[in-house]
Amino acid sequence: MTAFWTEPDFDEHEMVHFVHDRASGLTAIIAVHSSHLGPGAGGTRFWHYPNPKDGLRDALRLSRGMSYKNAMAGLPMGGGKAVILADKAKTKTPEMLAAFGDAVEALGGRYVTAEDVGMSEADMVALASRTAHVSGLPADGEDAAGGDPGPFTAIGIYHGIKAAVRHKLGKDSVADVHVAVQGTGSVGGGVARLLAKDGAKLTLADIHADRAEALAAELGGKAVDADAIMSVACDVFSPNALGAILDEEGIARLDTPIVAGGANNQLARAHHGQLLFERGILFAPDYVINAGGIISVATEYLARRDGTPGDINEVRKRLAQIPGRLEEIWQESDVSKTSPDVVADRMAQKLIGR
Ligand code: NAD
Repeated sequence: MTAFWTEPDFDEHEMVHFVHDRASGLTAIIAVHSSHLGPGAGGTRFWHYPNPKDGLRDALRLSRGMSYKNAMAGLPMGGGKAVILADKAKTKTPEMLAAFGDAVEALGGRYVTAEDVGMSEADMVALASRTAHVSGLPADGEDAAGGDPGPFTAIGIYHGIKAAVRHKLGKDSVADVHVAVQGTGSVGGGVARLLAKDGAKLTLADIHADRAEALAAELGGKAVDADAIMSVACDVFSPNALGAILDEEGIARLDTPIVAGGANNQLARAHHGQLLFERGILFAPDYVINAGGIISVATEYLARRDGTPGDINEVRKRLAQIPGRLEEIWQESDVSKTSPDVVADRMAQKLIGR
């Protein structure tokens, strides 16, 4: 493996920690990008990387993303992320989780973990038997913060879509606003349900077509092929599946004035934000609109650290700040004629002292 400081994604990360446990077969990378605002917080990704270097890149890129996301969410947390390099069959054993929990604990709270792709709430419970620096655990009752971050991410995106509709279309409600949702999993499905309650018109797509069809039948929307969703003429395109979908080809296909959704790293390359801007499409920077999950996870962690149950109202309060932050970005973008992704990056960098 090459030295991480020669990696293009290396951005003065404060710590890149390699973990190998021969007995369990665990290999993991824990990266802390910035602890300027607090402990490096971000989930653990459990993934098979045919080339382990891609795991390192993910850890570097995603931990920097968490620094920006946590800062823009107003959380007293820095940015961190871990990847567990799984084998081809994605074998996950209790021994591996125990070894990973020990590695997180050994960092003494410099890194705080939670769910990400391939890691469940049950996995967090397993980690909690080895480390205190884990969140996304089951909530202790209805008024307590905690549990699966997906629904909280969906609520933040729903608020963000309403803000975008207000800013771009001058409408105070999403009733009859046509939203095309890409991906109907935990986040996309939640967004669609919240929008349906307000009377939005929905077009849904998922590579598991049966998922989109079932949700469309439940909510009274229309399901289309996964290949077709980016070309649907709509008021809002909401990407909630994969990253890097906004490249030259993807942007050329869009027939919408707004892109606002939860998928991480939607812009394939930095200049694609400018391309959207030139086309007059309002973009909600992903790490700002999709911060609901980390807001829940961080609120839960901070409360537990102080020996109190996390308050769900504190989570709601922080979620309700997402539209205001987006509006601030869009206003600055309008004034400075700079794309919203660049405006958001500058704001985040300032907050983390870079
Ligand atoms: P999920 O696995 O529950 O759902 C993703 C859905 O997208 C699945 O139903 C999958 O079949 C579908 N999909 C995959 N590729 C597709 C394609 N090309 N076209 C259409 N559908 C496709 O995952 P999730 O938790 O809902 O996360 C969705 C996105 O949001 C991811 O990019 C994730 O990184 C991001 N995100 C999630 C959270 C969270 O709290 N869960 C927080 C922040 C960001």
